[in-house]
Amino acid sequence: MLRVYKIEIKPTKDQIIKIHQTIGVCRFIYNFYIIHNKEVYEKEGKFVSGMSFSKWINNEFIPNNKEYIWIKKVSSKAVKRSIMNAERAFRQFFSRKTGFPKFKKKNKSNVGIYFPKNNKTDFTLERHRIKVPTIGLVRLKEYGYIPLHSIVRSATITKKCDRYYIAILVDEKLKPNTKPYTEGIGVDLGIKSFATVSNGRVFANINKTVCVRKTEKSLRREQRRLSRKYESLKSRKNKEGGATRQNIQKQLLKVQKLHVRLYNIRTDYVNKVISELVKTKPKFINIEDLNVSGMMKNRYLSKAIAGQKFYEFREKLIKKCRQNDIEVRLSDRFYASSKKCHHCGFIKKDLKLSDREFVCPNCKTLIDRDLNAAINLRNNKTYKIA
Ligand SMILES: [Zn+2]
Repeated sequence: MLRVYKIEIKPTKDQIIKIHQTIGVCRFIYNFYIIHNKEVYEKEGKFVSGMSFSKWINNEFIPNNKEYIWIKKVSSKAVKRSIMNAERAFRQFFSRKTGFPKFKKKNKSNVGIYFPKNNKTDFTLERHRIKVPTIGLVRLKEYGYIPLHSIVRSATITKKCDRYYIAILVDEKLKPNTKPYTEGIGVDLGIKSFATVSNGRVFANINKTVCVRKTEKSLRREQRRLSRKYESLKSRKNKEGGATRQNIQKQLLKVQKLHVRLYNIRTDYVNKVISELVKTKPKFINIEDLNVSGMMKNRYLSKAIAGQKFYEFREKLIKKCRQNDIEVRLSDRFYASSKKCHHCGFIKKDLKLSDREFVCPNCKTLIDRDLNAAINLRNNKTYKIA
């Protein structure tokens, strides 16, 4: 099964230079192809394929323009890939699916550098680093995330703000879940706690932690500063002093960095919860088939839910469970998992959202509301398989 892992990397100074060089050359070549193609098309009415452009560059353009020899200093495979991307953009334009291909602008366009695998030694995976062609051994920020026995097919390095990421396409072998530790678990997702498991484990809501709250607070502060700088630039037009474009750029980077940090904290947390759940090796995991888009329409709930990444959680959980041969069961969202007593089945119709405890009027069972819901999910027999 093919799978993509995206991980932040910690390249060395030399590697960063190499990455920037490669990104620069790829961007240049991408734009060059578009300009060249446009010229040839206008003059001769012909379309230049990526292949012939690549040949032209190597056999004609560089030999006659020695000052462009730096094109050859970076991974030729990465350069070839960006020509192919440009060709695709051009072909889409010709088939009238899109507008004229846009040029890749420095600092604005996302340029990824692609490294295919050609022979066995191109990529080697270790717990904390990966060897990438022409770049060398690069340190990974997350350890042990990629199974070491996977076979790497290709990788793409990208830069976002001042962080670097690698997306690795691997071929993974499925392991059958022959000896599950437990029969199955039910997982109740919520706003107070992120997830409550039928075995009693509770995963807190990450957005209520000091770390996230602090980061959100600084984000709001830096955003206010940014908009003040914009205002000051507008009002002081043609006058000296005040905010300059440069320090607006600086402030913008600060804001983007905070966005990235929040994003990373939340994503890491979702991954952590999933990996903890899978580690318990249940036979199945039953979750509520949440109507996320419906919930997003509720203005009060939408902000809380967007920050919780329920949809991402569900998609990733299904993926990870497939790899580990764990069945994911989706219970209908109208299935009254929180209103039903897990012990005697009595339905408590007047249970409010604010009631944190479930007290059964019938059998007098007293239990945490979310735990009761999780147990009901585990026991539910009317589900669909994801
Ligand atoms: Zn009861």
